[in-house]
Amino acid sequence: MAKLGRGGFLAIAVIFHLVYIFSIFDIYFVSPVVSGMRAYKVERSQGTQPPAKRLVLFVGDGLRADKAFQSFPDPSPAGSDADSTPRPLAPFLRSRVLSHGTFGVSHTRVPTESRPGHVALIAGLYEDVSAVTTGWKLNPVNFDSVFNRSSHTWSWGSPDILPMFKEGAVSGRIDADMYGEEAEDYTQDATELDTWVFEKVKSLFVSAKLNSTLDSALREEKTVFFLHLLGLDTTGHSYRPYSKEYLHNIKVVDQGVEEITKLVEEFYGDGKTAFVFTADHGMSDWGSHGDGHPDNTRTPLIAWGSGVARPKKWESGKAPGHEDGFSADWDLDLIQRHDVAQADVAALMSYLAGLEFPVNSVGELPLAYLAGDMEEKAEAALANAQAVLEIYRVKESHKQTTVFRYQPYSAFSTEEDSIYNRSRAIRSKIDSGQFEEAIRQSSELLQHALEGLRYLQTYNWLFLRALVTLGYLGWIAYALVTVIDLHVLHGASKTKRTFVSNSTFTSLLIILYCSLFVQKSPWTYYAYGIFPIYFWEEVFARRSALTAGSKTIFRHISGFKGYALFAIQAVAFIAILEALVWPFSSNLHAQADSISRYNHIFTV
Ligand SMILES: [Zn+2]
Repeated sequence: MAKLGRGGFLAIAVIFHLVYIFSIFDIYFVSPVVSGMRAYKVERSQGTQPPAKRLVLFVGDGLRADKAFQSFPDPSPAGSDADSTPRPLAPFLRSRVLSHGTFGVSHTRVPTESRPGHVALIAGLYEDVSAVTTGWKLNPVNFDSVFNRSSHTWSWGSPDILPMFKEGAVSGRIDADMYGEEAEDYTQDATELDTWVFEKVKSLFVSAKLNSTLDSALREEKTVFFLHLLGLDTTGHSYRPYSKEYLHNIKVVDQGVEEITKLVEEFYGDGKTAFVFTADHGMSDWGSHGDGHPDNTRTPLIAWGSGVARPKKWESGKAPGHEDGFSADWDLDLIQRHDVAQADVAALMSYLAGLEFPVNSVGELPLAYLAGDMEEKAEAALANAQAVLEIYRVKESHKQTTVFRYQPYSAFSTEEDSIYNRSRAIRSKIDSGQFEEAIRQSSELLQHALEGLRYLQTYNWLFLRALVTLGYLGWIAYALVTVIDLHVLHGASKTKRTFVSNSTFTSLLIILYCSLFVQKSPWTYYAYGIFPIYFWEEVFARRSALTAGSKTIFRHISGFKGYALFAIQAVAFIAILEALVWPFSSNLHAQADSISRYNHIFTV
């Protein structure tokens, strides 16, 4: 190849860096959503009913856990000076915790934003940030959800959230009633966003009295009602979570939840409704969210109604679950606290309403929230593990067809430990009445499935990282040779290529591309592959420039003292450079790695 001038060198530099920036997305951020899974639900003998006939989900957008339970002087705008005794702001939700249902903290993952929070709650998966490469389309990849598994879902709330569950779901299954985007104006009283939702729900049930088609639709089984309450997020951003406005908004939400609960229970009169109250993410003291600060990741979870376990009360002291001290000032020490990971809520909702688990859900069913007996819990835990294993099975079979000599995940690699045999062993434990052992094994199996998904996700990392490292090292060497050639030798160096060197580099490229082709790799991999070979070939061909250049550069250094001084200067220079980039690069890697760990699963 002819030597490139300054222009050519700059063009290569720009193209190379642009292409290699993308490698971050190919390594760390690939969608966890795959298709082709069979859906699982809890097996029940004929005539046995699911725990509930319908489910009501309330999401207080941006409600952090502590504020939902702590006591404050009355923050109402009207009664500001009337009473300064601290009292719980959400007495109705608190009454569910004290005497009706089960509660805990739902821990979200980063980024603590509305979209990934709702996807975790309703689809049970931790969405990756690959959406940036697809131009933030509404749904870069369509995913399954609890709503999609319902017979029908009615939802009310923000146009930022509801459409993403409606799109991609079975057509006509999800009704979304939304206010206009202008309603989210920060200068208005944001509690109106919540009262708007409550009023809409009330009017739906009122109109059912005059509309028999609607009435019978509402009385179908396996229905879901989703109330997205954006007020708290808006007041949190405008006034911060310590403000009277935010605390008052909690009161508004609590009152609305109480009214809707009563209305629904009166409408159906069968006591077969399950209720779940939670949040998509929290809110920092500065009125922001997005990062992994505990104020952003801790949200309340309260479940009550049909199928939900009643509170476990201690006579004195501290009930289990409060060990971290986070709930010390909630005055709920006597009630056992059961924390969950956010995606577990999707599994809980599917279970309660008797639905299939959403096919991409990686949530673990929190058994402590279930009212059923041990046999019911054992069946539920097995179905939950099988649903997550199904994702593993599909991803593994995809991997098997696309990589050379696939090495299976070790925990499932022997015949005895195969997915099939492990599930069958649990089934026989249930059949012989060993429910606790079956639950233990199911939980272990589910953890293995999650580990296995992580294994598949990182399967190609070594290869990709090696390729990218070779590319960057090649770039450094190539740039060095070019600079020496242009500025030290003034273009006088000769390129030397032999038949052997030419055929070696060409064969390397052909072998690499063939293996990428056989493994059905994306086109970007081909781009990552060409740079190391091009750079190293150029460096090899112009190796004489390196020797000639180094002679010129080092000619003024002589004697031991001269070389020693030069070595010290070089080490000091590299140390300073390292010190400059170290905090940044270690932080960046930790973040990229933790984000990708959260995405558990994807096929590289
Ligand atoms: Zn927000």
